[in-house]
Amino acid sequence: MTMPSWVSGEESKPAPMPLLLVQSFVNTWDGDHNSDLLLDPATARDWLTEAGLWSAERAPDPAELHRARAVREGIRAMLAANSGGPAPEPDDVKPLQAVARAERPALQVDPNGHVTLDADPADGLLTLLLVIRDAQRDGTWPRLKACGNPDCRWAFYDRSHGQVGAWCDMATCGNRIKNRRLRQRPR
Ligand SMILES: [Zn+2]
Repeated sequence: MTMPSWVSGEESKPAPMPLLLVQSFVNTWDGDHNSDLLLDPATARDWLTEAGLWSAERAPDPAELHRARAVREGIRAMLAANSGGPAPEPDDVKPLQAVARAERPALQVDPNGHVTLDADPADGLLTLLLVIRDAQRDGTWPRLKACGNPDCRWAFYDRSHGQVGAWCDMATCGNRIKNRRLRQRPR
């Protein structure tokens, strides 16, 4: 399967489209390489434009990038809950609530009577919320998780039977954490 250009080359457990968009947005922060695609305005514009989440000619300003990163970390907290972690804190969800309050999607009926709910292409954050809503309705949402390694927290899609996956990658994060726990075990 060929991945879209906006998906990280490190993505070994991709979600189906369009949830892949939310996963890739969360993975614009890469703890392993300590890189963040939503820090520098020009870099952020390139990534967001490729992903179809930004349509303006200008680059996002610092306040817009700050908001995008806050939404990203809110989503990551929700994904940590999907992998068995604690429920998100009220502050985690606040940035998403602010987006939902500020923008309204458009309800449309096409000539065939097909009903859609769409965000303005200029509003990428609202687009992400609509994708999350659809995933929560179709049952794919609980499979999108944040890696249980606290240094990693990479978003991965858990296709395992019974949805028991806890690591983005068993060979790296899974074993790393298990070995750490073994070492910490009192003798
Ligand atoms: Zn990991």
